Amino acid sequence: MKIEKLTFPGVDGKRPVIIAGPCSAESREQVLNTATELAARGVKIFRAGIWKPRTKPGGFEGIGVEGLPWMKEVKQRTGMLTATEVATPHHVFEAIKAGIDILWIGARTVTNPFAMQELADSLKGVDIPILVKNPVNPDLELWVGALERLYGAGIRQMGVIHRGFSSYEKKIYRNAPLWHIPIELKRRYPELTIFCDPSHIGGKRELVAPLAQQALDLKFEGLIIESHCNPDCALSDAAQQITPDVLDYVLKMLVVRDNTQTSENIGALRRQIDEIDDQLLSLLATRMKVSKEIGAYKKENNMPILQTGRYNDILENRAKKGQNMGLSTDFVTNIMKAIHEESVKVQMEVMK
Ligand code: PEP
Ligand code: MN
Repeated sequence: MKIEKLTFPGVDGKRPVIIAGPCSAESREQVLNTATELAARGVKIFRAGIWKPRTKPGGFEGIGVEGLPWMKEVKQRTGMLTATEVATPHHVFEAIKAGIDILWIGARTVTNPFAMQELADSLKGVDIPILVKNPVNPDLELWVGALERLYGAGIRQMGVIHRGFSSYEKKIYRNAPLWHIPIELKRRYPELTIFCDPSHIGGKRELVAPLAQQALDLKFEGLIIESHCNPDCALSDAAQQITPDVLDYVLKMLVVRDNTQTSENIGALRRQIDEIDDQLLSLLATRMKVSKEIGAYKKENNMPILQTGRYNDILENRAKKGQNMGLSTDFVTNIMKAIHEESVKVQMEVMK
């Protein structure tokens, strides 16, 4: 794919590209108030969801076409570019007709190849930037597939948004930031402009700033941040929206690293290492849990803990697998011995 580097009028590239605005367009007043406050603080691109993909029916599902003239008014009054989410060919038709400048495709839509293909077909001939959020599940190829479908429809102005991934284990985030996935995407397609959406990753106001800083440290080129003139009363995503004032403060506090220094590459790599280590630890913890269950089974069935045949098989088989992956036999054997030793200890505890 030969993707075009995105440029936005009035945005110089020294600081990150900022897209800000409410999760949803709720009323003309809310849209215009928020937009005016953001424009006064130097924001050049305004976002607002016109159609909202909600997990359950019954919530606020977006104002729909009624909100599009408000976006036009934002453009006329503030000079900001406008952006909204499209999920169906009907949305594309209406948004283009209303003069929206940038479209984004939401995580849920990117997850569904049929919906993506329909959208791509409806975007044929459209020459504005299209931002593609990561799919809900951590599947890089699905994300790439969505970009390829758009590319196949002739779209060249493409960017991506990392908004985190759903995970069963809820930690502090609403959607886990698996940074290595967007980083790998950027490695494959260096021309792709990458944005981070700290609002949807964090799900809470207090996580917006640290996540935005992390994204900049990882060389993300833009941020899309939810901002509402009265966040507590927002009809969707109230907990993660910040006022234009707070947004301004957060943006001023962000440290933009010097892109000419190669040492910042090491920061990105170290963060990848940190994340991989977290995953290793979490896998080890899971493995020990299973060992405990095996211990309980052995106790119930009066079986010995140590079964030499099985142990030798593990060592041999893992060493071979590791070798195929470019890992030295000694290294893999040492790790497997340490893991096995701990596993035996855990089982002995159960046997007590
Ligand atoms: C949004 O940006 O408001 C949105 C619905 O995002 P996502 O697709 O990331 O959930
Ligand atoms: Mn939202």
